[in-house]
Amino acid sequence: MIVRLARHLQNGTLSHIGTALFIYAHPDDESFVSGTPLTLAAAGHTTALLTLTSGDAGLWLGKAQGSWSRPDLAAERAKEWAAAVECIGYRWSRLLRYPDGGLRDAPAEVITADVVAAIREVRPDIVCTFGPEGAGSEHDDHRSASYFAARGFARAALADQYPERGPAHVARRLFFSATPYVVDAPAAVGAVTPTHTIDVSAFETRKAAAFECHKTQHKDRDFFYELLKRRQGKEYFHLAIDRGSPAPDAGDLFGP
Ligand SMILES: [Zn+2]
Repeated sequence: MIVRLARHLQNGTLSHIGTALFIYAHPDDESFVSGTPLTLAAAGHTTALLTLTSGDAGLWLGKAQGSWSRPDLAAERAKEWAAAVECIGYRWSRLLRYPDGGLRDAPAEVITADVVAAIREVRPDIVCTFGPEGAGSEHDDHRSASYFAARGFARAALADQYPERGPAHVARRLFFSATPYVVDAPAAVGAVTPTHTIDVSAFETRKAAAFECHKTQHKDRDFFYELLKRRQGKEYFHLAIDRGSPAPDAGDLFGP
C-alpha cells in the first residue's frame, strides 16, 4: 500500500493505492501545492489535510493583516479553508487553532500529540510537509510545521508515545516540499532539492480555484500566479525518510 509519488503517475499505470497526509501551517498553504493531492485523488488515492494554525495574523512575507481583528480573521479564514478543502477534495481534514505566527513558541509536546493523533487517525502511507527551511520563504511557522510534522511522523510509529492518542501507525515515507535550484529566484534559495517531480498540469485551473477560495489572502495573488507559471505544471518533493529503503551502496559525497 505504498504511493510511488511520481513513478506510476508519469507512466500512467496505477500499481498502488495509498493514503497521503499533507501537513501545513496556515489556511492557504495547501493551495500552493494542491496540484499533487488533486492528481493523487484523480488516480484513486485518498488524500488528507492537517493545518496547524487558524491564520489569524494573516501575515505573509511581512504584509499586514489589514482591518481584521484576529478573531474575525480566524473565523473568515476557517470558512475559506473549508472551501479550499472541498475544492481540492481531501477526504479527511482538520484545522487546528494554534496561533498564527506563534507556532515556534507553542508547546511542542501538545502540538506533537495533535500531529500524532492525526497520523494515527488517517493512517497514511506517506506524509508531505514543508522543508525544514520553511518552503523557501523561511517563515517561522512553515519551519515549525516541518519540524512538528517530522516529529509526529516518527512518534506516531511508537506505541509508547502518546498512547492515549490512538494505536501506533508506521507511515512509510516523509516528503518535504522542494524547489529546483534557480539562480535568479532568491526566494527559492535554501529550499531542499527535489527527488520527485509530480506532473500536475491537468489540474492547474483547479489549483488556482483552490487559491481563489482564500479571499483574505488575495494580496498574495500575484505571487501565486507567478509561482504557478514558473513551475510549468509541476510540483516538487524531496524524499526525506523512506522506511522501506535499505542503505545505498558505498558512494562518493562529491560524485553524482
Ligand atoms: Zn503559510
